[in-house]
Amino acid sequence: ALTAGIVGLPNVGKSTLFNAITQAGAESANYPFCTIDPNVGIVEVPDHRLTKLTELVQPKKTVPTAFEFTDIAGIVKGASKGEGLGNKFLAHIREVDAICQVVRCFADDNITHVSGKVDPISDIEVINLELILADLESVDKRIGRVEKLAKQKDKDALAEFPLLSRLKDALESEKPARTVEFTDEEAKVVKGLHLLTTKPMLYVANVGEDDVADPSGNEYVQKVREFAAKDNAEVIVVCAKIEEEIAELEGEEKEMFLSELGIEESGLDQLIRAAYSLLGLATYFTAGVQEVRAWTFRRGMKAPQCAGVIHSDFERGFIRAETVSYDDLLAGGSMAAAKEAGKVRLEGKDYEVKDGDVIHFRFNV
Ligand code: GDP
Repeated sequence: ALTAGIVGLPNVGKSTLFNAITQAGAESANYPFCTIDPNVGIVEVPDHRLTKLTELVQPKKTVPTAFEFTDIAGIVKGASKGEGLGNKFLAHIREVDAICQVVRCFADDNITHVSGKVDPISDIEVINLELILADLESVDKRIGRVEKLAKQKDKDALAEFPLLSRLKDALESEKPARTVEFTDEEAKVVKGLHLLTTKPMLYVANVGEDDVADPSGNEYVQKVREFAAKDNAEVIVVCAKIEEEIAELEGEEKEMFLSELGIEESGLDQLIRAAYSLLGLATYFTAGVQEVRAWTFRRGMKAPQCAGVIHSDFERGFIRAETVSYDDLLAGGSMAAAKEAGKVRLEGKDYEVKDGDVIHFRFNV
């Protein structure tokens, strides 16, 4: 499964946020295929469509889809030089698919800041620079080898060399590799380099309790937003401390607490949805009387692959996907009505599944 790694300097609220994640934790019995690891927190992906489908179908059970966050502790200045837990830290980042960088945007004199004062942009730059330096090392190693081959007129090397030079230029001017544009061909080469700064990045601005309802007065958040805009990255505002409390609540209790705080959705739920879509993930549903359930797929996946998310037998024996869009099903009011209205399609193996499709797979066993 794809996972988003949580990183940040010491004392910015990572552990607090990760606690909230494990606290909110998904019913693990429902997700036997998820990673069991103390550093991985499995959360349910909030989706209002699942509530509507449950009302409509009245199943015995409803199961949301899940998403994994990985806690990556231990970045310090100098990580790329292998200081402290540096190397280990970078190795862990290499394994995740997206990065959620927690940034301290709360003032609290009781909590020490590693560099002496709250300055989110300088914090971000410390971390991003470590990632950039690590990538520069990878690119430099590769460029050395490729340059030799290019001199011997090796065709692949001749093609790769200018790409590596572009990457090197970007990294040397302290820009992440994700700001460089690649062709599809080049993207394959870049993938093989296992760079850190090609991973999508999301900034999690951790604000104080007083700023949750309206963070617009928090100048740190404004700065992070401006920075992220240049970096093509998204910003989610949370108060990790409050998220810990919210995570203990469910249903009506949770809604009441949120409305007392003056917010519609918890910061954690926003973060989950943002990370999910940042990774190119989408949701389809199965809706039977036994169980209404949400399933995760990668955008662009075809019907048989999506069937394989449920079980590999479904993919192997795939025949057809009886498909209706969530909107059409809701408008019809029942599966039977949607069928009558001609909204239920029989899709074959080349069908590209869309977010919100409600599917019944037919397959051979
Ligand atoms: P980590 O080192 O990044 O994992 O940071 P922690 O989660 O351990 O948080 C460091 C300190 O900041 C702890 O004392 C937390 O209680 C406190 N803290 C975390 N989030 C908030 C917040 O939103 N507001 C305030 N006032 N304190 C926070």
